[in-house]
Amino acid sequence: MTIADCYACRKEAEFDELPPRECIAFDRHWRAAHALGTAVHGWLVLLPRRHVTAVHDLTDAEAGALGVWQVVLSRALRRATGCLKTYVVQFAEAEGFAHVHFHIVPRMPDLPAEHRGPGVFDLLRRPEQERVTAQEADRMALALRAELHGKPRAR
Ligand SMILES: [Zn+2]
Repeated sequence: MTIADCYACRKEAEFDELPPRECIAFDRHWRAAHALGTAVHGWLVLLPRRHVTAVHDLTDAEAGALGVWQVVLSRALRRATGCLKTYVVQFAEAEGFAHVHFHIVPRMPDLPAEHRGPGVFDLLRRPEQERVTAQEADRMALALRAELHGKPRAR
């Protein structure tokens, strides 16, 4: 395994040049990005900033920060998208995506029944015309950053 084989590590190597959608928020341990190829606006992935392929290999410090990130990002998604709740899922099985990544998916009120629960993954690898565009993902990233930074809300 080299960095060239791992999408997350390639992005990490370009950290200072990443667009908003690839680095919505970060700390020393974790980076949050908008998912690729999804039809769901605000589908996030939370990635450790070093190459780790199993949750049991995370350090205690990474583990501690992980819980806070999952909740803080879920709150930002709720405020930015109006989702009822978020799904939090970790598999890391796709080719080139063995690097641990926690999916944090806004579960919208109108999500069709067949896509609730595990069926939401049908909305991850979508045809080009259904995908959230890079521009839309960047806009969502900026909206989430504003929520994370406690922007006063217009009522
Ligand atoms: Zn990696």
